[in-house]
Amino acid sequence: MVDEIHEECGVIGIWGYANASRAAAMGLFAMQHRGQESSGVATSDGKDITLVRQMGLVARLTEYMQEHGEPAGNAAIGHVRYSTAGGSSVVNAQPFLVRHKRGPLSIAHNGNLYNARDLRGKLEELGHIFQSTSDTEVLFHLTARHPAPSLEEAIKSALLQVKGSYCITMLAPDRLMAARDPMGIRPLCLGRLDKAWVVASESCAFDLLGATYVRDIEPGELLVIDDTGCRSIRIAESPRRAHCIFEFVYFSRPDSLIFGHSCDKIRRRLGKQLATESPADADVVISVPDSSNTAALGFSHKSGIRFEIGLLRNHYVGRTFIDPTQAGRENKVKLKFNPIPGVLKGRRVVLVDDSIVRGTTLRSLCRMVREAGASEIHVRISSPPVRSPCFYGMDFPTESELLASNMSIEDMRKYLGVESLGYLSIEGMVQAARELEGQFCTGCFSGEYPDEELNKQNRQMQLGL
Ligand code: SF4
Repeated sequence: MVDEIHEECGVIGIWGYANASRAAAMGLFAMQHRGQESSGVATSDGKDITLVRQMGLVARLTEYMQEHGEPAGNAAIGHVRYSTAGGSSVVNAQPFLVRHKRGPLSIAHNGNLYNARDLRGKLEELGHIFQSTSDTEVLFHLTARHPAPSLEEAIKSALLQVKGSYCITMLAPDRLMAARDPMGIRPLCLGRLDKAWVVASESCAFDLLGATYVRDIEPGELLVIDDTGCRSIRIAESPRRAHCIFEFVYFSRPDSLIFGHSCDKIRRRLGKQLATESPADADVVISVPDSSNTAALGFSHKSGIRFEIGLLRNHYVGRTFIDPTQAGRENKVKLKFNPIPGVLKGRRVVLVDDSIVRGTTLRSLCRMVREAGASEIHVRISSPPVRSPCFYGMDFPTESELLASNMSIEDMRKYLGVESLGYLSIEGMVQAARELEGQFCTGCFSGEYPDEELNKQNRQMQLGL
């Protein structure tokens, strides 16, 4: 019953760097927002691969590595994971490591393979035994059973059989590989750290390591990096791009380059566009920290209404206090946020948030702002209403639990107990990210996915079939 959308993963890969396991873990620190359930690093010393995985935050992984010795080697891949409740266990923590006929192979995956269940069923019929409940594991089985002696050929064949979204880093003792699905749904970029190569979900990992951004891994590209250099293999043609626009709205860090563009710049534009489409007569703009700070700055800039910090966020509250009761949830909101009455008392407040999921957190926050003395509250959302599920690796509540699926905007306004509620339009959202126009997935907002099979599946779900 957590009232947030969760990114399911972040990945990293490093080749040709002394102490690669530590560097990979450092990069994971920068991408902690992409997954807090577990983290792990697989390291190659040129002959074999050592795997370390821990439940919890990356700090636990690094503590473990310090206590037990950092795995030695010049190449590593790493992963941070958020999982849905049923899959929260160390067997599902990544990277995965197997030993098959071509030797050890480790994989870290961000995304969702929506035909994994079907593929798994067929493989189990053939006698394959699975160790986890993760969709990623089918990639190992498909790779292992391919007859070609070449590892790249086997991986390419496996990737051609899966459907959905994937950004993958893979490690064999003598090479690092990275692949991205043909529509480029999730972000994955390539950087240079002196003579070493780095691949990461977000470029903020490069900044922490002192690496420089080179380019994105192309949709449909398999990149192979070894002692001879870096070469590109095409997995499949890329008929269209469908980058997840939610990466700009909420998931990615504003200091990252996402799909080759500044997340900060586009997120500010979302706020500016929101101010144009849904202005408010008010005294102060505040944000729901931290994810809405940048959009709120954009709203303030365009509207000319001063931005102030009206809510403070406590960053030390983990997932410990999840409580399924309404009272419990409100307590959690109080643990996490605190209003600043001096900013809010007697003021007409614009409260900017990036999205509404169930609406329970925002409702509690609105009550908190009111109790702190705000005379009016105008809620502005820097994305359109979320009405449909995500099949590409975001953990959304079911459609029936999404507030905007069940209520009109006016009913939502009443539910939140505020003077006005305004959303950004789909056109306005896409316009804010105009550099990539025509290259987005907007499925959870529009109900239209870049894949006809998913459109059919969504229509059937809506009909209750
Ligand atoms: S459905 Fe929404 S969250 Fe999922 S990939 Fe598309 S835009 Fe992103």
